[in-house]
Amino acid sequence: MRSLVVAETENGRVAKATLRVIGAVMQQGLPVDLLLPDAALAPSVEKIAGVERVLVMAGEANEELVPETLAAQLHALHGSYSLIAASHRTLGRSALPRAAALAGGAFIPDVIAVEGEGAFVRGLYAGSVIAHVSSASAVTFATFRASPFAPVADSGGNATRVMLEPVARFARTKLIERQASAQTGRDLPNARIVLSGGRGLVSKDNMDRLGHLADSMGAALGASRAAVDAGYAPNTAQVGQTGKIVAPDVYLAFGISGAIQHLAGMKDSKTIVAINKDPDAPIFSVADIGLVGDLFEVISALEAHVGAG
Ligand code: FAD
Repeated sequence: MRSLVVAETENGRVAKATLRVIGAVMQQGLPVDLLLPDAALAPSVEKIAGVERVLVMAGEANEELVPETLAAQLHALHGSYSLIAASHRTLGRSALPRAAALAGGAFIPDVIAVEGEGAFVRGLYAGSVIAHVSSASAVTFATFRASPFAPVADSGGNATRVMLEPVARFARTKLIERQASAQTGRDLPNARIVLSGGRGLVSKDNMDRLGHLADSMGAALGASRAAVDAGYAPNTAQVGQTGKIVAPDVYLAFGISGAIQHLAGMKDSKTIVAINKDPDAPIFSVADIGLVGDLFEVISALEAHVGAG
């Protein structure tokens, strides 16, 4: 049997998250194919390392791909695959359960590790419970949290291109418009260093200052939901259960208490540094390095060190 990964695109290229999902799926040791909704990207996608075939969706449906149409395409293909995978983002989360229902297969969301063929690890209850799940279905549909997995190289491969027959477009929903949300600073999910601010920053000006420090350090800016709700940081910066999930090499949390919903988005970071004036703050339970003290003193010291401010 084979595995199929749904390719997502961003800024005219294959999303880094897709490269990570391919890396995850390869751990099963099965041949990997890629389903590409955007034919224009086929020449670059064929070079992704380790991919054997690129299946290119055809027809006008691809330009305004809705989950129902993608689900129909996956249903049409599922007989050749034991695993159909996508990143745990909006499109995959919407399309794969539908495809699983059509095909009568299992759906496993939010996979964080692969244990073997059909065997996965996923988080439950905002990551506070880790479940080991194995599928008894002939075909399993799974969405992968991208950040725990290393991406494959986007060059060096030589996949075969296969043009697919068009599937009927789902007529009852229509994509009217896409609006990219304002992106500030570096790409948060793929950053190696994240500086994240919470309610302890007290103002938007202070969050902007943290963002400036992040820029100087080559880091991305993150925020807690409380900081986002207070208007200190944009929605796109939110880390956590209802925000972005990150696993950088270093995550520095400034004035973040460490609510379970925040930890769900960052606790897989390789090194966690927490700065909080409250020694009992729950963030210290996941921190590798904890600093009990005033965050503004630490920001000033870091600014002096990197020459920012
Ligand atoms: P607080 O909990 O108020 O903590 C502020 C911290 O700053 C305190 O620990 C304080 O000691 C410290 N502090 C204050 N001043 C200083 C200083 N000068 N120096 C050092 N430390 C200082 N939250 C998320 O973050 N992401 C999510 O995705 C998310 N999703 C949610 C989903 C649901 C369904 C629900 C119910 C909640 C969700 N939340 C989420 C909210 C979450 O429960 C917390 O309310 C939120 O994370 C708290 O943000 P905070 O740590 O910035 O604020």
